[in-house]
Amino acid sequence: MLKKISVLIVVVFFTTSVIGQQANQRQINVGTDPITQASESGEWLEPSPAKGTKAKNVILIIGDGMGTAQVYASIVAQKENSNFLRFPFSGFSRTFSHNRYTTDSGAGGTAIVTGRKTNNHHLGVLPDTTPIPSLLSFAHEARMSTGFVVTCSVLDATPASTYAHVPNRKMYDTISMQMAQCGYDVMIGGGLHNFRPENRKDGQNPLDTLLRRGYEITYSLEEMNRSRSNKLVTFFCENYYGPIAPGRDPVLAQGTKKALEILSKNPKGFALMIEGSQIDWACHNNDAAYMEAELADFESMLKIVLDFAEKDGNTLVVVTADHETGGLVLVGGNIEEGKNECKYVTGNHSGVMVPVFSYGPCAETFSGINNNIDLLPKILNALGLKTYLNK
Ligand SMILES: [Zn+2]
Repeated sequence: MLKKISVLIVVVFFTTSVIGQQANQRQINVGTDPITQASESGEWLEPSPAKGTKAKNVILIIGDGMGTAQVYASIVAQKENSNFLRFPFSGFSRTFSHNRYTTDSGAGGTAIVTGRKTNNHHLGVLPDTTPIPSLLSFAHEARMSTGFVVTCSVLDATPASTYAHVPNRKMYDTISMQMAQCGYDVMIGGGLHNFRPENRKDGQNPLDTLLRRGYEITYSLEEMNRSRSNKLVTFFCENYYGPIAPGRDPVLAQGTKKALEILSKNPKGFALMIEGSQIDWACHNNDAAYMEAELADFESMLKIVLDFAEKDGNTLVVVTADHETGGLVLVGGNIEEGKNECKYVTGNHSGVMVPVFSYGPCAETFSGINNNIDLLPKILNALGLKTYLNK
């Protein structure tokens, strides 16, 4: 009997103690930084990247078509210097779309940035074509700075999923007008052709709209780097850039640097989406040399982002892919020489899980097997913007 009572006392004591600790923890974490706040007992709380720490900025990086085999090929090719090895947390993302086992970039991008599954070829809309907001539109509404940098056209599926709402990703006239009106601060990529009035069927002039809304529009790397504007659109080419290997300018790295320079001025923080677009194109072509060159280009962008995030301390970095492309298998290679023997089993996308890498405040919440629609709520939670999800 005595034994039973003592067990009960221990249980009661333990329970009240845990509840007390939780209440105390909640109280301390409301609106404060646990790293710099003392607890009521006067003890400094443990510095921790978890619980209560919020991110001021987020950089979401999408490697189009970048599955785990593509990432491993890059790690091998970079020998011990791959920037992927700098991420403390990693996980997976399941990429299926609302209506297909294998997603396209429209539904894939939409799922990542809006947190909702949709049909292939849709952009920024539900399967019934209802428009849905994205990470960048939430951040814009919260008065954070916003932008994207891509190595494809600014009208392509991944960048367009952040600002456009169309049932078909090829509706370039509509998509370009929606981009001109979205209000993001920095937009860098290709695709000038569809902005010129003479190439349009609707008679509208989105270049004029951009200028009237206060943007500086630049047309080369040099012009972009010379710009002092805080609202910047850069078109590097009429339609699509060529591959990096035969001499494309380092637009991904330089565009990222420029975007960070502009966006980081906002004391409310920023949300930046960056896409390494041509990993996908290389894998559609089953071209391993093209793929490795694009991955090397992706690595130089990652270095800039991680160096920034390390210095800043308040930036969450999430790297993932919209889907895998090519069904890449690494059947052999040479670790010392940084060589991979690549075989592709398809010229299309595959349905395999893709990796997720994260760094910075709340980075640990991205580990495990995510659904691609889990990423947005986790990012909004990290930014303290989760209430936007209920709007
Ligand atoms: Zn894609």
